[in-house]
Amino acid sequence: MRFLLLFLAVPLASLAQNHEQFVFDGPAVVIHGGAGGIERKYYTEEQIASYDSSLRVILNAGYAMLEEGHTGMDVVVHCLTLLENNPLFNAGKGAVVNAEGTVELDASVMNGATKKAGAVAGLRHIKNPAKLARDVMDHTPHVLLIGDGAESFAKTRSHEFVENKYFLTPKREGQYQRWKEMKKNGTVGVVLKDAQGDLYAGTSTGGMMGKQYGRVGDVPIIGAGTYADNNGAAVSCTGHGEYFIRENVAFQVNARMQYEGLTLEESASRVIFGVLNEEAGNGGLIAIDANGNVTWTFNSKGMFRGAKGKMKESQKVMIHTDIFGDPTWPEQCGF
Ligand code: ASP
Repeated sequence: MRFLLLFLAVPLASLAQNHEQFVFDGPAVVIHGGAGGIERKYYTEEQIASYDSSLRVILNAGYAMLEEGHTGMDVVVHCLTLLENNPLFNAGKGAVVNAEGTVELDASVMNGATKKAGAVAGLRHIKNPAKLARDVMDHTPHVLLIGDGAESFAKTRSHEFVENKYFLTPKREGQYQRWKEMKKNGTVGVVLKDAQGDLYAGTSTGGMMGKQYGRVGDVPIIGAGTYADNNGAAVSCTGHGEYFIRENVAFQVNARMQYEGLTLEESASRVIFGVLNEEAGNGGLIAIDANGNVTWTFNSKGMFRGAKGKMKESQKVMIHTDIFGDPTWPEQCGF
């Protein structure tokens, strides 16, 4: 009841921009490039344009694959790989660094039709963690492999190895020098419905800037940062991972839909604006259900995000991208 009151207390005007929904017909893809203290004043027009065009390139690539009938898992991994290779985002190249100045990467993927999932954590030399997460799902009896063990498994599956410094960009090195003041987060995620009507989710990250060596966040924890179930929704999260682990955010969105009978929209709002706000846990999520309902919901200042699909009402294919939230939205925990 307490969270419900809190949820209801959220001003509707603020919800408008930090909480949008679409309804798609047929296959659709939704991506995020991280949530956090993303405010217009920190970005030049040129930077905004390059984030926007990166999101669009990835949405177009994913949607084209869906239209060609590729399985949703191929599309999730392809989109995550493009996001990981793009230095603008906190995953793969461009990932944040830990307190010791090295990059440790986490990723996971999940198939909502079979509930099969794969995840990796603490990688230091694998160029594309999302591909390895998929291989854990497809080629081991396990769900999560970590660190050296995950990397030695990668050798058996011909993954591309890189030096740890490959992931570092001048921007991240600069941030590392200032990380105590910065408190920045990021992460990338994909949720989609494929041409067969199945739901898929995947998430990939460098974690939190200045994290302790060995720290694992929500992203590779199935149910925390990633979850997909055809009977509920495919969900990918971004934000302060410890809160998302403790609250099992991605699974909780599913559980509220299935056990409380909430819509995707209601469920995502209650988890982000109710449960997380109550704890001052900062972040957001993207989600899609089997009826083509899509939501993005975040309690931070902004979230890099985009969606592409055929709108149910107009039957027109729409691509929509956005970065910032409502500028009057209160910062929940200082990001
Ligand atoms: N959730 C990620 C983590 O805690 C970080 C992020 O989304 O920015 O590792």
